[in-house]
Amino acid sequence: MTSIDRSGAAAETRLWHPFSDMSVVRRSEFVLTRGEGVWVYDDQERRYLDGTASLWYANVGHGRAEIADAIAAQLGQLEAYSAFGDFTTRPAQELAARIAGLAPVDDARVFFTTGGGEALDSAAKIVRRYWTAKGEPERMHLIGRTGGYHGTNGYGTAIGGIEANRAGWGPLMSATSSVQWDSLAALEEEILRVGPERVAAVFAEPVIGAGGVLLPPPGYLEGVQAICQEHGILFVADEVICAFGRVGDWFASSRFGLRPDLITFAKGVTSGYLPLGGVVASGRVAEPFWEQSGNMLRHGATYSAHATCCAAGSANLDLLAENGLVSRALETEGPLLAALEPLAAHPLVKEVRGGVGLLAAVEFSAEALAAGAPVAVFEAARERGLLVRALGQGVAVSPPLTISQEELDFLGATAAEALDAVAAASVA
Ligand code: PMP
Repeated sequence: MTSIDRSGAAAETRLWHPFSDMSVVRRSEFVLTRGEGVWVYDDQERRYLDGTASLWYANVGHGRAEIADAIAAQLGQLEAYSAFGDFTTRPAQELAARIAGLAPVDDARVFFTTGGGEALDSAAKIVRRYWTAKGEPERMHLIGRTGGYHGTNGYGTAIGGIEANRAGWGPLMSATSSVQWDSLAALEEEILRVGPERVAAVFAEPVIGAGGVLLPPPGYLEGVQAICQEHGILFVADEVICAFGRVGDWFASSRFGLRPDLITFAKGVTSGYLPLGGVVASGRVAEPFWEQSGNMLRHGATYSAHATCCAAGSANLDLLAENGLVSRALETEGPLLAALEPLAAHPLVKEVRGGVGLLAAVEFSAEALAAGAPVAVFEAARERGLLVRALGQGVAVSPPLTISQEELDFLGATAAEALDAVAAASVA
């Protein structure tokens, strides 16, 4: 009999990490053990300011007992039950109704998934089936944008605009393309190239996240919506990062005055306490499925509308609402940018971006990028007790919405020290 080592402290891990160089990570994992507010602790009891809210999702911060209690209560009552057919649970009904009430989507319906990528693929399949049901089966083309990130499932990979994520898989989903992320002319041109009557939907993150925290030029998103309306194309706002307070409103679409046909969400809906995502669809999009008998959406996963995940979602929405965290994010966007703005003068830095909620990025110069600055700065910051996210052009920050001024000061000062350390090392 072999005994199983439950300490987890194996010399070499068996855990295959996503988006990670396992040739390095296999012998050097970074183990976190607990979290409280904006802070997380490693297995040596060192603490780190979570400048990224993990992967852009811990909106209410770590260690909130209210959510843990709601999860425990639901687990004790009924952990989960399928939502296929007419089955449902109270938490699933409640969370769907709450999200439908918050989302800037006409006559909204909510379809739940287990995360963001599955939400994107669900939205893509819903729009294609919508057009089939409406007697326009040639309307299949899906347009994304350069720099866009829509998860790693089939459709999300195909409409994603980060080239490295698209390479090496062989043929991706057909009838998809990408346009320059900030150009309305490029979008019009692509629609005319494909043929407006062949385009099913345009997908856009209101603020591009993983592609570099790219803020939409003034009027751009409104322009995308107008172009879609002009050609009868559906407009999908991918709010997996932006929704639930991240940009200082419940949805970025509200902040930018948009009324999309569909919104995809995940992350902040539970602040990551349990995995959950979904699609908000307008009454127009739902109509062929909800009004015509026999036209079911033959799509959906085992854990769609999982009762305990939905209970975590409602407890999280309670915290966001009762603690005023959405308006707090709006009030804190200026101070977050102010904490980072001094870095704009640093020799490694090309630009500091932010000011739309608690999303910001420090973009590095071409020379600094060539020398590997994003990962070097990420490492130097972590050594100093700050977690930032290394992206293609720089580092991003997206702290929990609860961050205080003192914690913002620490974030700014520690990021500056990390940049200085990297600059000093590359000169030496
Ligand atoms: N869309 C956007 C805008 C995202 O940022 C992400 C995740 N970072 C996804 C989709 C995919 O979500 P998930 O990782 O939960 O599948």
